[in-house]
Amino acid sequence: MINRHVSTLLVAYLHNELTEGEKLRVCRHLKSCEQCREEYRELASVHRALKFMPEAAVSTEITRKPPRYWNYTSVAAVATVLVLAVWLWYTPDRPLTVAKLQGSPLLEGKPVVEIGRFEPGQCIQTDGRSAAQIDLEGKGHVNVKPNSEVQLVQAQPNERRLKLMKGMIEAFVSTPPRMFVVETPTATAVDMGCAYTLATESDGATRLHVRLGFVILQSKVMTSIVPEGASCRSEAKIGVGTPIFDDASPDFRDAVQRLDRNNFDELALSQTVAGARKEDALTLWHLVPRIPPYNRTALIQALRRMVPLPEGTTAKEMSSLNPATLRKWRDAILPSAKALN
Ligand SMILES: [Zn+2]
Repeated sequence: MINRHVSTLLVAYLHNELTEGEKLRVCRHLKSCEQCREEYRELASVHRALKFMPEAAVSTEITRKPPRYWNYTSVAAVATVLVLAVWLWYTPDRPLTVAKLQGSPLLEGKPVVEIGRFEPGQCIQTDGRSAAQIDLEGKGHVNVKPNSEVQLVQAQPNERRLKLMKGMIEAFVSTPPRMFVVETPTATAVDMGCAYTLATESDGATRLHVRLGFVILQSKVMTSIVPEGASCRSEAKIGVGTPIFDDASPDFRDAVQRLDRNNFDELALSQTVAGARKEDALTLWHLVPRIPPYNRTALIQALRRMVPLPEGTTAKEMSSLNPATLRKWRDAILPSAKALN
């Protein structure tokens, strides 16, 4: 099976988390497969960029993973890079460029021959056989997959903003946090330095999957922090759902999704608590404010067994959703979330 694509192993390969046998398989495959090689290059460029940003802003170390060490030269150098990046991104009206990847993508209804200017307000459309790539001025790029429609939105200063009307995009972004934003019909994805896919589904829902770094997915009333290796769904009726890790058990996933649809479902809650691994702590943390107060005790107890309550906080504060306590516990579960404070 030497020809099987290695897409799903590439992030672990970058983090040096594969066994020798798996590494060998990835290396051999990359030598012979241009498609996986291109994907590896894209992920590696985001991975490199993450390494040179301040740790709090981008590391995605979670309690379940061995710590990763980010090498960066000095605080001053990082600050210079950030200031420079902000300056480079300052002009919100500047057009981006879009290139044809395959088939005949349309820019404002006209075929993109090779490369086109993508102005704020304009739309890119792909059919079943075409795909395009939006260049983010050397700060990454966005692949517009087949059967998709994407608009460049007039943005705030220091920000690039796309609107995904339908279909799927794949983003590889190495801008400083919060500078790349994608709106969908039911949510807004705020990039914190990462690689992710964002898709709309036939029922109008949005699905986000993060491969590297982390993304904030938000709707009017709800916000989810989605780290690498996790996905999150957003529906018009229920808002932004709870993030779930790819390797969570199917029963746990099902229970959490039922809780998202009905916060009062006590059976779903007990199945969620029973099925949670230590690695699912972030999922449980998201659920605390979403379920009714009288059901929070069991959830908080389960969470405490995974990650101790931070010093100076109490379960009672957590249950009454004290913002500082929620934040401290979140940072203990996902240290990279400190960038949000
Ligand atoms: Zn391949």
